[in-house]
Amino acid sequence: MIGVEQYEEYYRALVEKNTEYEGVFYVGVKTTGVFCRPTCPARKPMFKNCEFYENAQQALLASFRPCQRCRPLSHPNHVPEIVRVLVEAVEHNPEKRWTGQDFKQLSVDESTARRQFKKRFGMTFVEYARARRMGLALKNIRKGQSIIDTQLSTGYESSSGFRDAFSRIMGAAPTLLEDGKILRASWIDTRLGPMIAIGDEEALHLLEFVDRRGLEREVERLRKRTKSAIIPGMTGPIQSIEAELTQYFNGSLNHFKTPIHLLGSPFQKSVWEQLMNIPAGETRSYLDIAKALGKPTSFRAVAQANGANQLAIIVPCHRVINTNGDLGGYGGGITRKNWLLTHEKQKNC
Ligand SMILES: [Zn+2]
Repeated sequence: MIGVEQYEEYYRALVEKNTEYEGVFYVGVKTTGVFCRPTCPARKPMFKNCEFYENAQQALLASFRPCQRCRPLSHPNHVPEIVRVLVEAVEHNPEKRWTGQDFKQLSVDESTARRQFKKRFGMTFVEYARARRMGLALKNIRKGQSIIDTQLSTGYESSSGFRDAFSRIMGAAPTLLEDGKILRASWIDTRLGPMIAIGDEEALHLLEFVDRRGLEREVERLRKRTKSAIIPGMTGPIQSIEAELTQYFNGSLNHFKTPIHLLGSPFQKSVWEQLMNIPAGETRSYLDIAKALGKPTSFRAVAQANGANQLAIIVPCHRVINTNGDLGGYGGGITRKNWLLTHEKQKNC
């Protein structure tokens, strides 16, 4: 969520190795695929090859790996052994899902690891490993179709590296002979950060911020319920939502027309349909929605259905706030919720 005007300031800080910017931003270097702290001793990249992030998690999700020289995941001048060991273990096998047993094998205490990571990076070790894994899967989506077409035409078997990093999250690779369903996934950059859009030629199935908590589970649920594999690529509905999002963020659109597919129980769908009836610029409480459904006592179930929404912005779960007027939670983070509500109030169209 860094504004373009800030890029130049950060780039200056990077070139000057300005220690005041330590922890303020991280820089992803497109040519090498690593991300660094501002004071990295390595030769500085050109401006056009830099991407700036406010935290390490965003850099990981944009598929950068931590630089070996400046070690952006360690505190300046001090590398706690436990953090070093774990970051190395993840780099050794980035596709791995971590369990308590793995910590034992590395002679690492799980709760110490959790504390140390949280204190330094604002995320637990498991969140770190997940962000790195997700970043690898998203890397292919970010790059788009070309690589994948090659993979499809030559068969997945010849490229186990691709299969491991990607299909762990996006589903088993479809064989060319099988009549499996395929969903396409695209990366969309917005002013509130990158989003992932998944859909087929009929409709959009998923739209989420890539750093959304629980995205991996959401994707897994989607591909299991639709019995699909997900591969990078573009479809009509994805193209349509990309254009509509640009208009939405410009303030020139508040009603989305891209066809969507709602995947959920009948109750969840009824909640999501209610959400789509809330006009832009207005908010409702969970209780309001429950009443509108004729089930005033089911506001907790309404809150759950709200959280299970997988079409961010289009199904406007951000327009639901607490009865007392507090903003309440949001899967994409409270800062975004606040921004979206303010934006919708202002544009008044
Ligand atoms: Zn570095």
